[in-house]
Amino acid sequence: MYKGLFFVLVLMASADLKGQTGMPAGFTDSSAQEELRKEKKFDELISRENIGMTIRDLSSVPHHVGSAGSKQVAEKIQQKFRDYGFNVHIDEYQVLFPQPKLRLLEMTSPQYYKALLKEPPLKEDGTSGQKDQLPTFNAWSADGNVRAELVYVNYGLQADYEELAKLGVDVKGKIVIARYGQSWRGIKPKIAQEHGALGCIIYSHPKDDGYYQGEVYPQGPFKNEFGVQRGSVMDMVVYPGDPLTPGVGATHDAKRYSSHLEAPNLLKIPVLPISYHDAKPLLEALSGPVAPESWRGALPITYHIGPGKSTVHLELQFDWKLVPCYDVIAMIKGSTYPDEWVMRGNHHDAWVNGAQDPISGQAAMLEEAKAMGELVKSGWKPKRTIVYCAWDAEEPALVGSTEWVEDHAGLLQKNTVVYINSDENGRGFLEAGGSHALENLVDEVAKDVKDPQTGVSIYERSKAHQVATAPSPLKAKAIMDKTHLHLEALGTGSDFSPFLQHLGIPSLNLGFSGEDQSGDYHSIYDSYDNYIRFIDPGFYYGEALAKTAGHISLRMLNADILPFDYRILVKEIKNYTSELQSLIASLRETTSINNEILKKKYLIIASDTSRPFFPPAAKQEVPFIDFSPLENAVASLDGAADHINELSVKKELTRTQADSLNQLLYHAEQELLLEQGLPLRPWYKHVLYAPGYYTGYSVKTLPGIREAIEQRNFQQAEIEIKRSARSIEKLADYLSAFKITH
Ligand SMILES: [Zn+2]
Repeated sequence: MYKGLFFVLVLMASADLKGQTGMPAGFTDSSAQEELRKEKKFDELISRENIGMTIRDLSSVPHHVGSAGSKQVAEKIQQKFRDYGFNVHIDEYQVLFPQPKLRLLEMTSPQYYKALLKEPPLKEDGTSGQKDQLPTFNAWSADGNVRAELVYVNYGLQADYEELAKLGVDVKGKIVIARYGQSWRGIKPKIAQEHGALGCIIYSHPKDDGYYQGEVYPQGPFKNEFGVQRGSVMDMVVYPGDPLTPGVGATHDAKRYSSHLEAPNLLKIPVLPISYHDAKPLLEALSGPVAPESWRGALPITYHIGPGKSTVHLELQFDWKLVPCYDVIAMIKGSTYPDEWVMRGNHHDAWVNGAQDPISGQAAMLEEAKAMGELVKSGWKPKRTIVYCAWDAEEPALVGSTEWVEDHAGLLQKNTVVYINSDENGRGFLEAGGSHALENLVDEVAKDVKDPQTGVSIYERSKAHQVATAPSPLKAKAIMDKTHLHLEALGTGSDFSPFLQHLGIPSLNLGFSGEDQSGDYHSIYDSYDNYIRFIDPGFYYGEALAKTAGHISLRMLNADILPFDYRILVKEIKNYTSELQSLIASLRETTSINNEILKKKYLIIASDTSRPFFPPAAKQEVPFIDFSPLENAVASLDGAADHINELSVKKELTRTQADSLNQLLYHAEQELLLEQGLPLRPWYKHVLYAPGYYTGYSVKTLPGIREAIEQRNFQQAEIEIKRSARSIEKLADYLSAFKITH
């Protein structure tokens, strides 16, 4: 319809304008004014009181996937979108979600103790005594009935097992007890299983999550002695979603593994989370060597490692049933580009009531949708299509989003301009992560939205926090000198993962945190009563989140030229590359020094002869690795990003030219996908970002190369350098090939 229509866009680089006019990038002079007026109107439509009412309403009953509460919440959300003027439907999937049939943990010697495995209701917490609560458990534990000696493994990380080996302690045939923290929880039983343990217990330690931090709930926000962190232990770093249907949507008639026992990302050993009330008698009864100093915590006991006379019996059985999963999808069609989608999502399922996780984020998102709907009712026509997604089954393993994304992969790769995610929201400082080409956009918005407590921008507040908590004056100075927000690279832990890491769709993740320390995470105490006392009283940061995500969505919906800047991506890849070069250099140096220490027997000479000590074996010396393919690829991308930037700014473009440039800009990240995916986990295809294979949520950048180096597989590292370089070259070629046709 608009073909041949000539209109001139005079576009300005954000860099040229920053701090001068406050104009958003990607807009013409007049459309920028219009955009800013729109955002002001949008802000006036956001009500924090309303956000509070939504949090109270949607967290009023337990609503885990498959429960009556979850269906109720999905239907309430559907009705809200309908009221706001959206086209809305629910996509239903059939997904595996094992719930416990039997949970038993008892110590059988040196004395008997039966674990409570129960969080008591509190009179100060109105929803804590409701029925239909999921009991305390780790989803995707295996069924099992094991009796064995107990061994304390600290956080249960690789390095902890190296420490155990020096003390001559082997966990083969034992049950391990690990504390929460320092890694994603699923990594602990995975490493325990790799070391031959028969079972794994994970407890919340009061030093990290309890009375050592401050007053406990309900007097204060921190975890009380009975609080338990539920949570998933699926090996999500292999693939997330329904374990029976990797790579395809879990529709009614999808091809499935016939049993969970066939799924390659499920554990073979039982695992159970417990409170520190239940952990104390077990740890107290341990004998064997005294734990290294950094392993000791805040319990009033001498920490021993075991094994010894202390034995435990762990028995767990699950129902392994398929349950319905309800994804609520709401749309308003774009007037000019109906096939370009700006997507915004937050999950709605919780472990129990989930006032914070996820309803605080969900309520902010619904408030944005309400405001968008109002703007449309008052005559505004978004150019692009807006799509809101309220996901079910995020908690077990990003199931609702992953199944939906796998089900619609082709369409999403064609249409999605950006996916903007949020999850639980707290109070304090903006946390923003995502695709680096969108850093300017987030920077501009963060400088526009006001922090509700101080009145400075959320950018300034976050920067002030970083300056104030910098580890040294020099670091503080470096942060002070920065004038630009930095987007963090994304690992996993929420629903952006399938969009970004499986499909290569530009993604963002937003939230506020830092001043809402608490112990309610995944417990029955993540409730409205807790939220209004300790998390975000007054819902001020709910409002801040709605405005931040709302402005980003509005700019992406309306921009004349989409505000992607690939020069920032190039800068980041250069940083990652030099990080890897320093990583291998320091590994080479430390390996060689450690080998010399071993060779000269210093560890043995220094060791206490009254205690057993087993020195580690020498490690392979680290070879020199050729990074030149990667460096050359980055150099080509550098030129290509400049070329595209020149076209994007200060050029007069016809509408047709602008349209094809936009298509190029939002599809570009897909060029970074590795055709075969990452080693051992082909579901993860993004060359730049993946969750760590042995760390979980936190990101590994250039993961193929980085993990090969960390795992000392240097030959593989060379292969991965070439593979990564090819995929970066692919993006460079894609961008350089773009020409403006007249
Ligand atoms: Zn969540």
